[in-house]
Amino acid sequence: MGSAIGSKMAPPYANLFMAQLEENFLVIDDQIHNSQIPRDTLLDYKEKTENIRVPIVVTYNPQLNIIRKIARDLQPMLHADTRLKQIFLELPLLFYRQPPNLRKMIVRSALPTTTKAGTFPCNRCETCKYILCKDQVPIPNTQKVYTILDYYSCASCNVVYMFTCTTTSCSTGGIYIGETGQKLRTRMNHHRHKINNKSCDTPVGQHFCSQNHSLQDMQILILKGYFKTERERKIYEFKCMELFNTLRQGLNLEIKQNCLGIP
Ligand SMILES: [Zn+2]
Ligand SMILES: [Zn+2]
Repeated sequence: MGSAIGSKMAPPYANLFMAQLEENFLVIDDQIHNSQIPRDTLLDYKEKTENIRVPIVVTYNPQLNIIRKIARDLQPMLHADTRLKQIFLELPLLFYRQPPNLRKMIVRSALPTTTKAGTFPCNRCETCKYILCKDQVPIPNTQKVYTILDYYSCASCNVVYMFTCTTTSCSTGGIYIGETGQKLRTRMNHHRHKINNKSCDTPVGQHFCSQNHSLQDMQILILKGYFKTERERKIYEFKCMELFNTLRQGLNLEIKQNCLGIP
């Protein structure tokens, strides 16, 4: 007897089922109460007796019931040999493996992982072409890598991001770490504007306007997002600056000077 979930008859059936289940529990409860075994004894850890029987595992088939009888019949034959007698001292233990069924063949036991980590283009803004789709960034002067754990796009906001310079001759590595509460593409528009206008009042503008450099050498990715507060984001930004050493040889030099009070 069955009834589809959501059908008219499902609730009455569910009630019947629960009532039956409750009744079964009551029966078990009664058994415990009526028995003369004290509660403590029931809760005690039971030491398992060691099993030396050799297991035989076969895929289940109703016709295989005969195996048990065959094993029993052939046991004397095994005992005729001294070595085999040691191994098969007792009857082998028969186990059945579940045979393939429709459910096993059709239903996947795990859901495919759909979320990729890294920064991805939204495919409808000017920032898309500068996005670096990687989930790992090498940390300069170390053997380590920084791993990005979540999915981000140009439209992600509340993030700590990183600029890198693809120019091979670039001595600094051209890494800049920044943070923004705005969408990445909005923040990026500001940086792009600075570079396009050859404005040198920001470290990013200065770097990508320098010799052998252009806007095309810039790549951007998000290191982390989903911060609870602006303060948490700013602290993380600073941590990343230290990790990627951008305060000494990257593009965050200006911040260092500001922090130290150098005009
Ligand atoms: Zn985009
Ligand atoms: Zn550079």
